[in-house]
Amino acid sequence: MQELTAEVVVAGAGPTGLMLANELALAGVDVLVLERMHERTGLSKALNLQPRTAEVLDLRGLLPRARDRSFATVADGHFAVIPVPYTGWDTRHPYQLGIPQAEVEAALEERLAEQGVKVRRGHELTNFVQDADGVTVTAGDLRIRAAYLVGCDGGRSGVRKALNMSFEGIEGQGHGVAADVLFKSTPPNAPTQWRSMTNMVTSQSPGKFIGVIPLAEPNLYRISFGDRLNRPANLRADVTDEEVHQAVTERFGAEVEIAEIRWASRFSDDSRLAETYKVGRVLLAGDAAHTHFPAGGQGLNLGVQDAMNLGWKLAAELNNRAAAGLLDTYESERRTVAKQVLDNIAAQNALIPTTPNQLALRALFRDLTTLPEVQHHLSGMVSGLNIRYATEETHSATGTRLPDFPLPSGNQASTLFHKGNWVLLTKTPTPNPHTEVLVAEVPELPWPDLEKILVRPDGYIANTTGETTAWLT
Ligand SMILES: Cc1cc2nc3c(=O)[nH]c(=O)nc-3n(C[C@H](O)[C@H](O)[C@H](O)COP(=O)(O)OP(=O)(O)OC[C@H]3O[C@@H](n4cnc5c(N)ncnc54)[C@H](O)[C@@H]3O)c2cc1C
Repeated sequence: MQELTAEVVVAGAGPTGLMLANELALAGVDVLVLERMHERTGLSKALNLQPRTAEVLDLRGLLPRARDRSFATVADGHFAVIPVPYTGWDTRHPYQLGIPQAEVEAALEERLAEQGVKVRRGHELTNFVQDADGVTVTAGDLRIRAAYLVGCDGGRSGVRKALNMSFEGIEGQGHGVAADVLFKSTPPNAPTQWRSMTNMVTSQSPGKFIGVIPLAEPNLYRISFGDRLNRPANLRADVTDEEVHQAVTERFGAEVEIAEIRWASRFSDDSRLAETYKVGRVLLAGDAAHTHFPAGGQGLNLGVQDAMNLGWKLAAELNNRAAAGLLDTYESERRTVAKQVLDNIAAQNALIPTTPNQLALRALFRDLTTLPEVQHHLSGMVSGLNIRYATEETHSATGTRLPDFPLPSGNQASTLFHKGNWVLLTKTPTPNPHTEVLVAEVPELPWPDLEKILVRPDGYIANTTGETTAWLT
């Protein structure tokens, strides 16, 4: 048995674990990442980055490398398969970036390696024991003593289960299948590029849905289909070729020929949320803390943003710079966001009609989505742009994200956050309130009535006074 030490052990090198490890490494934390798989499969469940995730990656200078690995820029999001443009949001990224999950992971792992952290692949966390001072983690031939363990080990999280944590929510009735299908030629009326959610997904008979997204390779499509009312006895059963052929025939007709089914997997429409995100020195993030039906393309995005919220707080705690209770705000902020996502997904599920009355309701809802205010509201939810963390201040800016804007230098304000620091934006010379803060004088702020704003490392506005004492010691 090899004995190691680290400040934080991250279990799982999916998008959440990799983002978290990057954030911790950036803050100088000694982080060790365990991943049970020997290598990435290269297969992707998620296919998109939402606008807020694009902004979050931009705060760390990571967006260009995600863009290099992307295959599409999609003008709108969707809510229950009804397209919703990102209307009225002050963002430089009012689009979904079409990028396979495997490419997001590759980009994050590449940056992590540049920071000197190598993922320990082929190392499955099998056990951990925590005490007042730390956690002892066992993974294969490794025994690691760390101050904290973060379970980023996905929906079936062994870390969460070992904590005996309740993982309650809505038990769905239905299921879905995601399959990457290569056709012999382009199916009739199928889009050849993913530019919009319009016409991407078509509801069929009651309770059924089918979505078609063109991928990077010619004639390769993600076909997502399912039934809101029925699920197989075994949700882990292999997807049969016949199921995929049947869905394709329903959507495109019997004459369409499949060359290859590259990958197919089932998913459920259950929604679950961990009772707490922190038990002593063990925390949960990403799918380990919340799972849901992949409606609207939100799960990976939620996980990456969990990591962005947790990273700087955990680093401040380890560096003895966190004000009392700072780490607890990870749960109060991010569990609230996850609950909101689970609620919007429940609403989306209800909008896939199974009865004539629901069909009429959906038609009415679709009409409403042509109103700019409704588009703004719905796209704010699925994009993550509407997140507002609770604060004591009442100004509408506090708790919201800082919209990116150009600085007199010609750089964007987002570049001030590349090192994971706090930023005090001020119109008048102001003394630096804390060593972790970068003070930047700016001629204007996105809120003309404000003189200064203190922005957290994750890009959310802490306050309009510039006081750090509620957050940092
Ligand atoms: C069909 C489908 C389509 C989806 N589409 C989208 C989409 O378009 N947009 C979107 O945002 N989301 C989508 N999602 C959701 C998204 O895929 C997940 O939310 C995302 O994978 C969560 O990332 P994660 O890092 O938290 O967990 P995971 O990606 O599950 O990663 C967990 C990692 O932990 C490792 N691991 C597990 N146990 C251990 C252990 N004991 N020790 C060490 N390592 C361990 C696993 O091997 C894995 O690498 C979709 C999901 C499905 C099922």
